[in-house]
Amino acid sequence: MRVFVTGGAGYIGSVTAAELIGRGHEVVVYDNLEKGHREAVPAGATLVVGDLADGGRVEEALRRQGAEAVIHFAGYSLVGESVAHPGRYFRNNVGNGLNLLGAMRRAGTSRIIFSSTAAVYGSPRAVPITEEEPAAPINPYGESKRFFETALSRFHAAYGWDCVSLRYFNAAGATAALGEDHDPETHLIPIVLRAALDGRGGVDVFGDDYDTPDGTCVRDYIHVTDLAAAHVLALECGGDRAYNVGVGRGYSVLEVIEAARRVTGARIEARAAPRRPGDPPALVASAERIRRELGWSPRRDGIEGIVESAWRWMREHPGGYGGGGKLSL
Ligand code: UDP
Repeated sequence: MRVFVTGGAGYIGSVTAAELIGRGHEVVVYDNLEKGHREAVPAGATLVVGDLADGGRVEEALRRQGAEAVIHFAGYSLVGESVAHPGRYFRNNVGNGLNLLGAMRRAGTSRIIFSSTAAVYGSPRAVPITEEEPAAPINPYGESKRFFETALSRFHAAYGWDCVSLRYFNAAGATAALGEDHDPETHLIPIVLRAALDGRGGVDVFGDDYDTPDGTCVRDYIHVTDLAAAHVLALECGGDRAYNVGVGRGYSVLEVIEAARRVTGARIEARAAPRRPGDPPALVASAERIRRELGWSPRRDGIEGIVESAWRWMREHPGGYGGGGKLSL
């Protein structure tokens, strides 16, 4: 299939683009390189540097490729930042997202897979979370993603588009070539591994008085290649659908730090710090629906294997993409 990947120079987008190419699809990556990295665009994909704010450019690129499907990763994804700067999130994730849909309409592309998030559920009443749980986001990031899901359902109803929203839990880990390189880095696993690599400083644990087994937040960490595989399967779907994509097992912040200590052999100090605004206590997926309907299942579901792959990538790329050579340890 000819697939147009917005945000394909980013973390999950680049791994998915590589997966698509490996399975014989033709990929155009559309990315403004604000957060993405030119070096992360896999060989074999065509990179168009452009912004989703520029609907005309999107339309032209869709037409030129003859795009049969869009996978839409481009967007902002930080809960804390969204609380501090809500306008940025609505402008980019909603406003620019609608530009994309308009360009697809004009270009005649009517199939879309969307990077949604467990944050659409807010603080769920129970874990594991099924797709039946009502959407009730508690931060602007989750609100922006929820809105776009609604837009897709309405486009399906109005124009018969095929739309799949994949509600990601916590993407983590790396492939041999592609990994996580954000600036600033706010995600737990790379922060913990950075502390191990630098051999000094520790990690702030945001809140230790949540209603969870050890008082720290629980998340469902899913290996990025398993997440990428879900997108490839979703390309074949018709209708209007939403799927959770997670492993179905939660790990607390302290358990992740402990796993990183085992993998790296470093001490890694954990320091109690205040809660981070917008964080729900526990997010763990029920991924029964995607298992049942698409035959998806995660291949790498242990936290240690996930952390280990991220650690390998970080040691190979201590300065991230384009940030200097391999570290000899
Ligand atoms: N977290 C933490 N210290 C850090 C970074 C993250 O305690 O330096 C916690 C964060 O509060 C959340 C969990 O780790 O409970 C996962 O956070 P991350 O930002 O990786 O993903 P999110 O769940 O926000 O998408």
